[in-house]
Amino acid sequence: MISGPSGVGKGTVVHRVLSLDPSLYYSVSAKTRAPRPGEVNGREYWFVSEEEFDRMIEAGELLEHASMFGHRSGTPARPVEDARAAGVDVLLEIDVRGAAQIRERVPDSVLIFLEPPSQQELVRRLEARGTEHGADLERRLARVDEEMAAGEHFDHRVVNDEVDRAAAEVMAILERYGHTA
Ligand code: 5GP
Repeated sequence: MISGPSGVGKGTVVHRVLSLDPSLYYSVSAKTRAPRPGEVNGREYWFVSEEEFDRMIEAGELLEHASMFGHRSGTPARPVEDARAAGVDVLLEIDVRGAAQIRERVPDSVLIFLEPPSQQELVRRLEARGTEHGADLERRLARVDEEMAAGEHFDHRVVNDEVDRAAAEVMAILERYGHTA
């Protein structure tokens, strides 16, 4: 599982890891926000309504879930369980609150915290990526301290100074746990 503060570049590193190692099964999360331009249902996320998300929680279909910046995200349990039953290693990319639930519920998970070279750099990246503005950007900035502090509960910390280097370090960690590409 890869987690880390908002804006650290989790998506980019995960993308690189998956291209280095197509044998990993990427868990596609359920999300209650609307798709952004270019996002495809079932590829980036499963886009579901708030009602459907409630139903999934009720039915025990989510391995973890969390609220974030005006919407909710969760990991559908079934695909993860099916992949693991078939001997396939699964990659999750989730926020730090979901990570805490995975630690409890999946004891053999490997928790990797992706961190920025510095907290100032994280703030700079969040502002520079330009996908959030005004109140939304403020909310993310306000949560930086809490999200950075969560790093101490992880098995491994990887600095996202450079995408290729960080992805290679993630691969090296997985190999130490017996994962082969
Ligand atoms: P986005 O900008 O795509 O709306 O949201 C990205 C945030 O949602 C990231 O922090 C990402 O880690 C988190 N996220 C994506 N999928 C899940 C999930 O299934 N569970 C949790 N807890 N967080 C998720």
